[in-house]
Amino acid sequence: MPTLLDDFLSRDGSRVLHAVWETIRSRDPEQLQPLVEALPLIRRSTADLDLGGMIYSNNGHLAHALTKLEKHREGRCWCAVYPGMLTHDPRKEDTSGNVRILSTSEPGWSMTYVCECAVCGLVFDVEQGDHHFMWWDWKPRGPKRRRGEV
Ligand SMILES: [Zn+2]
Repeated sequence: MPTLLDDFLSRDGSRVLHAVWETIRSRDPEQLQPLVEALPLIRRSTADLDLGGMIYSNNGHLAHALTKLEKHREGRCWCAVYPGMLTHDPRKEDTSGNVRILSTSEPGWSMTYVCECAVCGLVFDVEQGDHHFMWWDWKPRGPKRRRGEV
């Protein structure tokens, strides 16, 4: 079976996108660590690919996946990728075990969630909106205060 790295380097748009979605969804180190190590190679191989996309450019999703790998390489938590990315559905992240939904406003198209990262405990205020497509704006409340930190 081809690995995600094979897919990323395949120069085949549909395979690259498959790897992009898996990378965005996954927190599995066995799956992601080889990608983190090959990040410069992946960037070179995908730099001039046009992945298409209708409402939201698929190249934007590719950039998102690479940003996730990059932040992980810098030693940041997986949740560092949430702010600025509008495609993380809190309910799916909760189902995947990536975050816990602590509370929500009245359910509806426009609503808010309070979520806690399952790894580092960082709490986010998440605003859900609907403009052409459903989006979620994640804002960190700030890390849990530890003694000695400013
Ligand atoms: Zn986290």
